[in-house]
Amino acid sequence: MTRNIPETISSLMSPKPDIPRGTVIHPRDGDCSNREVGTTTGTLTRCQLEGCGSWRVWTTWKSGGMTKPCLKGMRANEDGSYTIV
Ligand SMILES: [Zn+2]
Repeated sequence: MTRNIPETISSLMSPKPDIPRGTVIHPRDGDCSNREVGTTTGTLTRCQLEGCGSWRVWTTWKSGGMTKPCLKGMRANEDGSYTIV
């Protein structure tokens, strides 16, 4: 039994999405100066923004950086990749 999260809050939270390691993440549309793509590490953590309840997708970039964009700020593409919007 998991009763550590009040039902009213857990109902706002989306279930953990299935985003496997290596999923391609495209940067924001229209950002022509940055066309590199990222790939997911396979790690997802709950977004800590108040009232969000979505998931942070750990993403590494060719340049070596890592970001954790919120899934709420991404669009799923038909080919299985995501674009940050
Ligand atoms: Zn969020």
